[in-house]
Amino acid sequence: MASLASIKSWDFETDVLILGFGLAGACAAIEALATDPSAQVLICEKMPERYAGGNTRASGQSLLINKDPEALKDYQRRMNQSNPVPEEMLDAWAQQMSRLEPWIQERAAEAGARYIHGTGFTDREAVLEFPEMGASEAVAHTATILPIPAGVWLAFKTNIDRRPVRVLYETPVIDLIQDPDSLEVFGAMVEHQGKRSAIKARRGVVVATGGYEADAQMQRDYCGYEPLYPLGTPGNTGDGLRMLQKAGAELWHLRNRGQSGGIWPGLKLEGRQTVYLRQLFWQSFSWIEIAADHQRFYNETAELQLTHYKEKVRGHWVDTPHIHVQPVHMIFDETTRTMNCLATKAFTWNIAAEGLDWSDDNAAEIANGTILKADSIAELAKRMGRDPAAVMATVDEYNKACAQGQDARHGRHPITLQPIAQPPYYAIRIVPAVVCTSGGARRNIESEVLTPAGAAIPRLYEAGELGSMFSDLYQNGSYLTEAIISGRAAGRNIARAKSWD
Ligand SMILES: Cc1cc2nc3c(=O)[nH]c(=O)nc-3n(C[C@H](O)[C@H](O)[C@H](O)COP(=O)(O)OP(=O)(O)OC[C@H]3O[C@@H](n4cnc5c(N)ncnc54)[C@H](O)[C@@H]3O)c2cc1C
Repeated sequence: MASLASIKSWDFETDVLILGFGLAGACAAIEALATDPSAQVLICEKMPERYAGGNTRASGQSLLINKDPEALKDYQRRMNQSNPVPEEMLDAWAQQMSRLEPWIQERAAEAGARYIHGTGFTDREAVLEFPEMGASEAVAHTATILPIPAGVWLAFKTNIDRRPVRVLYETPVIDLIQDPDSLEVFGAMVEHQGKRSAIKARRGVVVATGGYEADAQMQRDYCGYEPLYPLGTPGNTGDGLRMLQKAGAELWHLRNRGQSGGIWPGLKLEGRQTVYLRQLFWQSFSWIEIAADHQRFYNETAELQLTHYKEKVRGHWVDTPHIHVQPVHMIFDETTRTMNCLATKAFTWNIAAEGLDWSDDNAAEIANGTILKADSIAELAKRMGRDPAAVMATVDEYNKACAQGQDARHGRHPITLQPIAQPPYYAIRIVPAVVCTSGGARRNIESEVLTPAGAAIPRLYEAGELGSMFSDLYQNGSYLTEAIISGRAAGRNIARAKSWD
């Protein structure tokens, strides 16, 4: 931390300082101004304006709208069972969730955008992830703001553009300015236009810098997983987590029983860190996935997107095995190649922020070598660097299961048992990909950052995915709504505080 005594002069001054411009940061700014319209609000964002929005922008834009707060509280308690969060936090969160929808609708209306029920890219009204834990009692529906992709982000960005909020882009925060004894926070050190600059925050600071999806070492240290690739922004490298650790915060939820947001099948282009998400909705099923030992390893066509890539094994929801059985290849035939675009185009950073495409017939990705092609399975195996006899045996066994209409090994639904029989044949690497990380500083429902002794660090707040309260299983739409609730709490509390200056 930098001490107040080390600051010779201030480069910027504000009342409310927000670090990170995703949904949590945006909501902190909106609520701060709603609480005190005369407050000065400054956001520092690491990325340039064209790449702002963090994982909020890359996300599926699904918002969880709940029914009865008691049912939501009960559902969340069960999802957090292996690592409980305080009951009063669950209680306040569920109450606030049940009042949230009109506020989101107002934000959409202010931006001139359309708020709808459903996901916007499927015909599902609601995603009920863990029914036996009470999903259908708790979840009223999924909601989103159009357009797809990135409608929620675009609406909240417009809300910020319409307010007197100053945003410094390309300004990563590097440290907090703090009293070394009381830990009271007075501002932050940032890098602005190549220079270390000091920002005075008269009322308080909120750290809303997202997770550490794009930091491989933190993934190893905190998740115990390697390699994992982000489906979201390359800007989320755990900077806030490091800062809060240094600031004297207690950390929580870094390692859950599983990866809360799940480990998804990613498609990686050579030279790019962030990956595409593989198609979720198939027009044909003549494809399988094989692990390092050239064998199939799970039920590939189960609708795992509905449980954030968790499978139920012996009564427990656990991550699919992708991370443990690399390298994984997907093998498919000409029918699947022509009938499906291999990548999801409704979201992810590559689609929503980079404006990258994936060709509908996958021809461009064959041409650039991302997809391997061969006239026989044996030749395809050689191109993958695998044992041809072993791969042929796996494909033969799968094709026999198709002929019998029964997948004795992994229980694929009979409708999805379509043989890999139409040459040419194709293969693509499937890499383990994450939508989010969990964990950060322990906080309370007011978004105050807590020390190991449970005391709030004066004038320091945390919001959004960083330090999320979701400690194990995760219901679709909860991360975005948590970013809203925790961001608003931080903005409101900072705006109400008296200036230290
Ligand atoms: C592919 C994908 C799909 C998802 N789908 C859903 C969904 O449908 N529903 C749902 O609820 N959740 C979903 N999530 C999760 C959800 O998007 C995130 O949890 C949520 O957006 C987090 O919001 P945030 O404001 O905390 O962080 P972010 O939106 O990630 O914003 C953090 C910001 O901080 C900036 N930053 C980082 N370091 C610094 C620094 N040092 N200084 C200044 N700025 C910094 C980043 O550049 C970024 O702009 C998805 C995520 C992904 C990636």
